[in-house]
Parts: sequence; C-alpha cells; structure tokens
Amino acid sequence: MTAKHRFYSALLIGPLFGIVAACTSHGEVTSYGPQTCQVELIILGAGQDAGAPQFGNPDDPAWQDPDLRLTATALAVVDQASGERYLFEATPHITEQLNRLDQIVPSTGPNEGVSGVFLTHAHIGHYAGLMFFGREVAGASGVPVFAMPRMYSYLETNGPWSQLVDLNNINLIQLEDQTPIRVSDRLSVIPFRVPHRDEFSETVGFTIEVMDGKAALFLPDIDSWEDLETEFDMRIDELVGQVDYAFIDATFYDDFELPGRDMSLIPHPRVTESMDRFSALSAERKAGIHFIHYNHTNPIRFADSAQTQTVLDRGFNVAREGDRHCLSSDHDK
Ligand SMILES: [Zn+2]
Ligand SMILES: [Zn+2]
Repeated sequence: MTAKHRFYSALLIGPLFGIVAACTSHGEVTSYGPQTCQVELIILGAGQDAGAPQFGNPDDPAWQDPDLRLTATALAVVDQASGERYLFEATPHITEQLNRLDQIVPSTGPNEGVSGVFLTHAHIGHYAGLMFFGREVAGASGVPVFAMPRMYSYLETNGPWSQLVDLNNINLIQLEDQTPIRVSDRLSVIPFRVPHRDEFSETVGFTIEVMDGKAALFLPDIDSWEDLETEFDMRIDELVGQVDYAFIDATFYDDFELPGRDMSLIPHPRVTESMDRFSALSAERKAGIHFIHYNHTNPIRFADSAQTQTVLDRGFNVAREGDRHCLSSDHDK
C-alpha cells in the first residue's frame, strides 16, 4: 500500500466513525454549550509565529488597539463530556490563549487542563510555548506531547526542551507519518508530512476526526501546494475536499505585500493563489476553508479590509481568534 493510499484509507476511517455530511453552513461561527455540542474546535490564535504587533513596527495599529493584536496560530479541540482539552501547537502566546480557553471551557483536569499537545514543527510560533509547562511556570507533570520523529528527537536532546523531558513535565509520544493515533474515545488525529523549511524537524499537517462527527484539516505552514504534490504525492484540493473544515496557511495575501522584496523568493502559497486553486470546489467545501497563520503584513488580519471582503465574497472564510466550530454531529440534530 502506498503512502498516499494509506493516507486516504486513514481519512476513510471517517465513514466508520459515522462522519455525517454537514447540513449547516460552515461559514457561521456559533457559540455552543455542552448541551448542543459535545466536541468543539476553538481558534486560539490565527497569526504567523510572531503575531502582531511586532517590534520594529511602531506603526502597527495593534499597539493602540488591543483588539487588533494577533497571537500565533493554535487550535483547541475540546470534548465537553470528558473535559479533555487538546492543543494543536504550543505558541509563545500560550498563557493568554489558555486563559481565553478557560473562559470558554473551564479547565477541569491537571496540568492547566491540557490533555495533550500536538506539534506541527520546530519553528518558534508552533512549539516554544512548551517552556511554560516547565518548573519556572506550571511545573506540569507528564503532559502528553505528540511529535514526529525528528521533532521528538530535537526536543529530547536540546535544552531547554530536554529539561521538560528529563523532569517529566512533558511526556513525548512519537507520531508516525499518515498513521492515525486515537487519543480518546471519540477523537483521532492523523499527521501527514508537508514541504517546509525543515531545519530542526519535519513539518506536518493534521487531520482531526471525531467519531460520529466531522473532520478538520489543520495545515498552518507549508512552502507550496506544488511541492506537496511533487514531493509527497498529495493534492491539496483533494485533501480539503474530504473534510468539513480546513484551516490552512495564509501567511501572505499576494505578491505585493512586502514592498521592496522579491516575493518570488519567499515560500508559502498566497491566499489569492489558493482561492484560484479551490475555485472549483462546492460552495459548502469553500465555506469550510478558513485561512489562518497570517503574517502581520497580511491585510486579511483586519476584518474590515477589502481583502477580507474579497475572501468572503469568493465563498471562503478567515479564521479569527475565538471562533468556535462544532465537530460533533449533535448540534445538527
Ligand atoms: Zn509558522
Ligand atoms: Zn514554519
């Protein structure tokens, strides 16, 4: 069985779990209570690694208006019945992100109520928040941290991360490419490798599947859709076509975003290019695509920008901190 076939077989676990066709618009963002949604996905941050404002940018309006701040991209997946709260990425902004999560779904378990952390790769916005589980802060005990082999080895052998392992603040669990890992009664996660500049680790996206519920794709950082196809034999339009929600790389909006820089030398699919690529998808699938991980220079960070309006007019969505999406089918009934 080829890697590609294994991946699609893994995605096809969905029907076994009873994934239902979505019957509501994915575009709307609703608040759910435990009575109406058992498993929820919450956007904890939608910015690029450093968020906004950044030093060296004194004119960023977020210095004046805290509502315009961006924290680095992260998701939480919460099971309201069991109280389990899984994080996708441990960002440098994890302190305020967990505080926000506590206000939505209060912590019930140990380790600040973090049941586990899934990491995509070793760039600072995606894992550096692990440091807050150490003895200087939370003094956590055995937080499961799910990582691919190179990422696992990097954390295990380089300080300060190795101290988290040595003191058992975190408990590393190795993931295998395109192999589902069942983390709870109803939650399954499948990592898949993608092309990105991999200095310290490989880079993955995740498919998140809820038994008797929906599936979400999380792919915040990738160099190009073409390389995904040539290097890893996967087509992004096929991948997003198989899930209810897709949260994907929107680092830059177009090639005019960084004046004075030759942007042809800078990786990441542009939002404009991605929208063109996905133009043949159904309206329902388009609405499930939420652009995330936007750079502080990307105008879609502002809800009232013309570029945000273009994204919405073309049938897509922009992920915003605090967005809540139901992954269980209960609220559809
Ligand atoms: Zn990043
Ligand atoms: Zn990266």
